Amino acid sequence: MTGTEVEGVDPGALEVARSILGPLAVTGAPLGALTTYRVGGPAAVLAVVSGIKDLGTVARAHQASGLDVLPVGRGSNLLVADRGYAGIAVMLDPAPNAFGSVTFDGTQVRAGGATPLPTLARRSADASLTGFEWAVGVPGSAGGAARMNAGGHGSDMAHCVTAVTVARLAARTGRAGDVKTERVVVADLGYGYRRSELGATDMVLAVELSLRHGDRVASTEAIRAIVRWRREHQPGGQNAGSVFTNPPGLGPESSAGRLVEAAGMKGVRRGTAEVSEKHANFIQADPGGSADDVDHLIRDVRDAVQEHSGVCLTTEIRRIGFAREPRQGSQPQQEA
Ligand SMILES: Cc1cc2nc3c(=O)[nH]c(=O)nc-3n(C[C@H](O)[C@H](O)[C@H](O)COP(=O)(O)OP(=O)(O)OC[C@H]3O[C@@H](n4cnc5c(N)ncnc54)[C@H](O)[C@@H]3O)c2cc1C
Repeated sequence: MTGTEVEGVDPGALEVARSILGPLAVTGAPLGALTTYRVGGPAAVLAVVSGIKDLGTVARAHQASGLDVLPVGRGSNLLVADRGYAGIAVMLDPAPNAFGSVTFDGTQVRAGGATPLPTLARRSADASLTGFEWAVGVPGSAGGAARMNAGGHGSDMAHCVTAVTVARLAARTGRAGDVKTERVVVADLGYGYRRSELGATDMVLAVELSLRHGDRVASTEAIRAIVRWRREHQPGGQNAGSVFTNPPGLGPESSAGRLVEAAGMKGVRRGTAEVSEKHANFIQADPGGSADDVDHLIRDVRDAVQEHSGVCLTTEIRRIGFAREPRQGSQPQQEA
């Protein structure tokens, strides 16, 4: 498949991007298949970057071609439209000598942006550090989690991060084609419930955490308990975790999941997508299913909840490549 098959891509812009990216460019790469939904179409271009030089090349391709650019982590919060993404998707190489390294200095941890969060949680526990056990159940990357302010079990990234290193892919590159990188401290990340003020073209390359000295055995047991809890309460299969954020100021009895259930949507199916019987805020995609079915079901659920309880839910998952955004509720503030 070639990138020109992604609807809405200007062939001239695509050629500019490809010529700058050279061997970094994979055209028509199956982006949807790289997400945890495992449905959806290709990216016009996918670039997997191994270092700063590659990021400079991506920044130049983005700026010269005018094609959008999308940082992609482990795809655990993305729904890519069946028609695909008409831009440049950028992933960090997770190799330890690229963006997958983890280093410890006392209670301070530095992780490459591609490090899987569960790995980081387990390695921190093994190093007798506590405060990051919660992250074992979040299947994203350190960079994606830093961007989303991922969280759970009473904590989140905002409680653990001290600073991140970002590459500004939209900022003018230097004369040598270098991408602009910056260390941003937590106070400047604008963290809120499942949000940060990092821009859509800011790529998180590294995350610095401040944890506490703890007990390795206790942390390992806490991790086991979290994994057990997730297995009991959340479905496996093809999904991206919670579809909607919890509406602000309503309390746990009005969590998004409870509202979906109260609206009678648990187990409801639209084509190849189904609201999970196990957790009403999860939507499952069938193997070989359609992202557009998932998206339609998201709208059905939102409408049903609005009609039943008057609450307009906001999506937590990021919809990529869809023609229009669904209605959004007010800004989320709390967690399930
Ligand atoms: C089974 C399951 C359970 C989940 N449970 C939780 C949970 O408990 N709590 C929770 O918060 N989330 C949960 N999630 C959602 C998801 O894991 C988190 O949102 C995670 O932080 C997404 O990280 P990612 O690397 O997969 O990002 P992606 O899904 O790839 O991208 C998400 C967003 O981050 C951006 N992004 C990705 N990588 C980078 C980067 N390096 N730099 C800058 N921006 C980037 C993308 O452009 C996009 O806007 C769950 C998902 C699943 C499938």
